Amino acid sequence: MKKVFILGSTGSIGVNCLNVIDNLKDDFKVIGLTINSNTELLLKQIKKYNPELVVTRDENSANKISSEIPEGCELLVGEEGLIKAAKESDYDILMGAMVGFAGLAPTIEAVKRGKRIALANKETLVVAGELVTNLCKTNNSEIIPVDSEHSAIYQCLIGENLNEVEKLILTASGGPFRDKDKSFFENATVDEALNHPNWKMGSKITIDSATMMNKGLEVIEAHWLFGLPAEKIEVVIHPQSIIHSMVQFVDGSIKAQLGLPDMKLPIQYALTFPERVQNNFARTDLPSISTLNFFEPDVNKFECLMLAFNALNQGGTAPCILNAANEVAVKKFLNKEIKFSHIPLLINKALDKVENNFSTDLGTIFECDRKTREYVLTLT
Ligand code: NAD
Ligand code: MG
Repeated sequence: MKKVFILGSTGSIGVNCLNVIDNLKDDFKVIGLTINSNTELLLKQIKKYNPELVVTRDENSANKISSEIPEGCELLVGEEGLIKAAKESDYDILMGAMVGFAGLAPTIEAVKRGKRIALANKETLVVAGELVTNLCKTNNSEIIPVDSEHSAIYQCLIGENLNEVEKLILTASGGPFRDKDKSFFENATVDEALNHPNWKMGSKITIDSATMMNKGLEVIEAHWLFGLPAEKIEVVIHPQSIIHSMVQFVDGSIKAQLGLPDMKLPIQYALTFPERVQNNFARTDLPSISTLNFFEPDVNKFECLMLAFNALNQGGTAPCILNAANEVAVKKFLNKEIKFSHIPLLINKALDKVENNFSTDLGTIFECDRKTREYVLTLT
């Protein structure tokens, strides 16, 4: 029986993770759930999974549900509560399904305890890839990626030698604006940007898909997960999202992992690895898909992709600045405070303005994140 602690249980990945665990029944038990503010769904989850502890982001949410928390279930609050839970509770696997920088601190606590990290929260590796991967080595903690591209690459690398990898090929759907002209970005609406053709996800990552910052963050994530430099990581547009990513080896051979665009498969893989477990998820019917296309991405149109490659090449806290600026810019766009086309402009300004620091300890990263947010909040 494996005990699972889910950070972000009410989100798109969190809910999918619980569905996966329903199918794995007797082998996995949910012991902890954490949320931002969806207390209604949390209460339903508490009833069904009977966890030992839950964490809400603030007192307000905690007060709403405190009288309905069953005996034997501890209710904790805020970042302090998250860290305490990650540090002290009894679990085998941390499912990192929170969105954004906020996932970093509890993930680090789990890494320090040598836990398995099933990682969806790519921002953790973007902002602190060096620190987190070093801590993994010293504490014998393993990160099994949940992000579908990285799960695909992880699966392609089983039985292979990293020295024999020529390049990683990350596939990207191209998002809802794949075929639009750059001029369209001036007046692109929130609803249009949230209308992803292939994947149903939380709003932040869906906007990241429309700007292609998501792929940029994934390039940085792949760099830290697989230890390859930026020039060995290529992005290819693949509109059908059937090939989740590929690895090309030094002899020219390419391995790919295929499946429907459904996060349940990479989530299950991260939980059950190294085993594969039978399930009833829908199967890929290749004749009905019939065609798979591939294109080069247009980095002049999708500037965020270029900004992410540049930040990775700069190193230090540049990826942390990129991420913090992006989080603030996306929130501003979702609140209709800025245009879609301003997202890369704000990020670019932050990369110019906020000083890059090459010591990447946790204090430096938190300070860099705070400074960048403060600066980008002042921009329009
Ligand atoms: P989401 O917005 O649907 O869910 C986020 C979850 O985190 C919610 O449960 C929310 O309550 C919780 N949360 C947010 N901020 C919090 C805070 N400050 N404190 C505590 N809890 C907080 O997001 P999502 O789409 O499920 O994505 C989660 C992560 O997984 C992101 O990093 C995303 O990039 C990554 N990811 C998602 C998908 C997908 O298909 N949705 C695919 C690949 C990777
Ligand atoms: Mg992905």
